[in-house]
Amino acid sequence: MKTPTGKVVVLPCSGIGKVYGALAREIAYELAERVRPDVVLLTCLPLVVVGDEQAKQLVTENPVITIDGCPMNCAHKSVELQGVEVALSRQAISFYVAHKDLKPDGVAELDETGRKLAALAADELALAVDTLAGKEGI
Ligand code: SF4
Repeated sequence: MKTPTGKVVVLPCSGIGKVYGALAREIAYELAERVRPDVVLLTCLPLVVVGDEQAKQLVTENPVITIDGCPMNCAHKSVELQGVEVALSRQAISFYVAHKDLKPDGVAELDETGRKLAALAADELALAVDTLAGKEGI
């Protein structure tokens, strides 16, 4: 496990045409914009894939949470292919499985139910973010 830096990189997959890809992105935005704006850093998965220096530095120096839209686990695999350990890996669908009353819809943009599920998922990930950032209990 990496030494906590006070920051955590959240990396959703680039899911196109899949509702759970859209959900993965929305969860990441919720974490970065509402739940833990001072802690969570986002970067583009393609930048990691092509070995962009800044993106590589981000995922190398900070703990990484990947959120994938389907079992292909593109975000998780892409980080590992760079030789970087993933601290926590989630599939967006697992949040729907835990909250069956919130079935997301929409591909380019989630519907209201999907946005509610994303907000709830981000709230549930807050503790993991705090722990990885070394800020547990604040
Ligand atoms: S994990 Fe699934 S939804 Fe996400 S980019 Fe890969 S194939 Fe697309």
